Amino acid sequence: MTTPILNPATEEIITTVAPLDLDAVDAAIATAARAFETWRNTGPSDRALLLRRFAAAVDADLENLAALEVANAGHTLGNARWEAGNVRDVLNYYAGAPERHAGAQIPVDGGIDVTFHEPLGVVGVIVPWNFPMPIAAWGFAPALAAGNTVVLKPAELTPLTAMRLAELALEAGIPEGVFSVLPGKGSVIGERFVTHPSVRKVVFTGSTEVGQQIMAGCSAQLKRVTLELGGKSANIIYDDADLDQAAAAAPGGAFDNAGQDCCARSRVLVQAGVYDRFLELLEPHVTGMAVGNPALAETAMGPLISAGQRGRVAGYVTGDDVVFQGQAPQGPGFWFPPTVLAPAPGSPSLREEIFGPVLAVVPFKDEAEAVRIANDSVYGLSGSIWTRDLGRALRTARGVEAGNLSVNSHSSVRYWTPFGGFKHSGLGRELGPDALDAFTETKNVFIATGR
Ligand code: NAP
Ligand code: MG
Repeated sequence: MTTPILNPATEEIITTVAPLDLDAVDAAIATAARAFETWRNTGPSDRALLLRRFAAAVDADLENLAALEVANAGHTLGNARWEAGNVRDVLNYYAGAPERHAGAQIPVDGGIDVTFHEPLGVVGVIVPWNFPMPIAAWGFAPALAAGNTVVLKPAELTPLTAMRLAELALEAGIPEGVFSVLPGKGSVIGERFVTHPSVRKVVFTGSTEVGQQIMAGCSAQLKRVTLELGGKSANIIYDDADLDQAAAAAPGGAFDNAGQDCCARSRVLVQAGVYDRFLELLEPHVTGMAVGNPALAETAMGPLISAGQRGRVAGYVTGDDVVFQGQAPQGPGFWFPPTVLAPAPGSPSLREEIFGPVLAVVPFKDEAEAVRIANDSVYGLSGSIWTRDLGRALRTARGVEAGNLSVNSHSSVRYWTPFGGFKHSGLGRELGPDALDAFTETKNVFIATGR
C-alpha cells in the first residue's frame, strides 16, 4: 500500500511513498537507540565536522531540494530556496555547538563541582506540511549537535524533502541510525513516538489540538516535549506609522506561504483615524498580488496544500464581510485568492487560526485598546507594531503576550534568535543560542578532594 503524493498547484501525482507500519517504526527506533551509544560518544570536534559536512551536502543539493518543495508543497521558488538555505544555515550554526556547549564549575566546600550537558537519547520530531524543511531542521540540528539521535516523521502530504535530507545526511557521513526519516501517518508513527519508552523527547509542530494530545500522552512517561502550535497574530498599525510601508508589507505578513504560516499576522489592527486611508493603500497590494504557478520567479503566492485545507479556509469567507479580494487561477490546483475581511466582533474569523490567505482588519482607539485586542486570543506566537514612536513601540511590544514581535517589520525568524509561543501557541523555544538546553539534561557531579 502506498500513498500518492500530489502537486497542489496541478493536482497531479508526483510520486508515491510507502508509509511505515508499526513494526517498521519500532525497528527504526531500536536502530536509533543503538546508534545513540556511538553518537553520544563521538567526540565534539568529529560531531561538529559531520554536521558541517551535512550542511555542505544540503548546500550542494539546494536547487534540487527547492524544486522538490515547489512541486510537493506549492511553495514559491524564492521561498523554497530560502527554506533549503535555512536548513544549511541551521546545521552550520549548530555545528558550532558541540565544541562550545560547556558546563559550569561551581565553587564548593571540600571538592570540585562540575556540570555536564548530557544528551537525552532518541528524539522524535513530528513535522507539519506548511514548512517541511525549516521546521524539521529546527528540531533535528540542535538535537544531533547535543549528541541525541533523531527519528523524524514528516507530514503525510509533504514527505519528499525530509526523505532527501536523510539521504544527504548519510552521504555526508552521518552514521546509519543517527538521523532517520519515517514517512507515514501521524496516528501511527507520531503516536508511537509518544508511547515508545526509548523515545525520550518529542518535538511537535502543528495544530494546538494534536499538540495537546501529545503533551497529555507524554505525561505518562514524563517525556520531555517541545510544542510549536497555532497562532492568530496581530499586526498593530498606529496612526503615526509610515502607512505606505505598513500597507505594502501587510500582505507579506499575512499571505506569505498562502497564509499557511503559524506566524501569519492574520489580524490587522488599525488605529481609527487612519483606518480608511490604510485600507485604500492596502487594496492594490492585495488585488495586484501575483498568485499562480509557484515555479515562476515572479509569483508571490502559490496554492494551498490540499482540497481539505481549501475547504476549511473557504468556510471562513462567507461573503458579507469581504472588503476586497485578489485573484487566483481557475482550474486544477488548490487555489484561494488573497482576501481581506472586516468581521463583526466575536466572529470565528477573528478568533480561529484560518491557515490560509485571509486577513481580518479591526479598528482600535488607542494603545491600551490595541494591546487588549491583540491579547484577546488563546494564541500568542508573533506580532508586529508599526509606529515612529519608539516608546510606544516598546510599551506595546512588552504588552503583547507573544513570543516573537517585530517593529516596523514582519520578520520573526532568525536561526540565531529564540522562537516559540505564549499561551496555546506552544511550550518551549527553538533556535537561538540556548536551543541545546532543550535537548540535554544537566548533570551535576561533585568530586571530593579531601582536606
Ligand atoms: P496536525 O494534525 O497537527 O499535523 C501536524 C503533524 O502531526 C503531522 O505530521 C501529522 O501527521 C502529525 N499528527 C497528526 N495526528 C497525530 C497524532 N495523533 N499523534 C502524533 N502526530 C500526529 O495538523 P494538520 O491536520 O495538518 O492541520 C490542521 C490545522 O492545524 C491547520 O489548518 C492549521 O490551522 C494548524 N497547523 C498549524 C501549524 C503550525 O505551524 N503551527 C502547522 C500545521 C497545521 P499526518 O501528516 O499524518 O496527519
Ligand atoms: Mg491533522
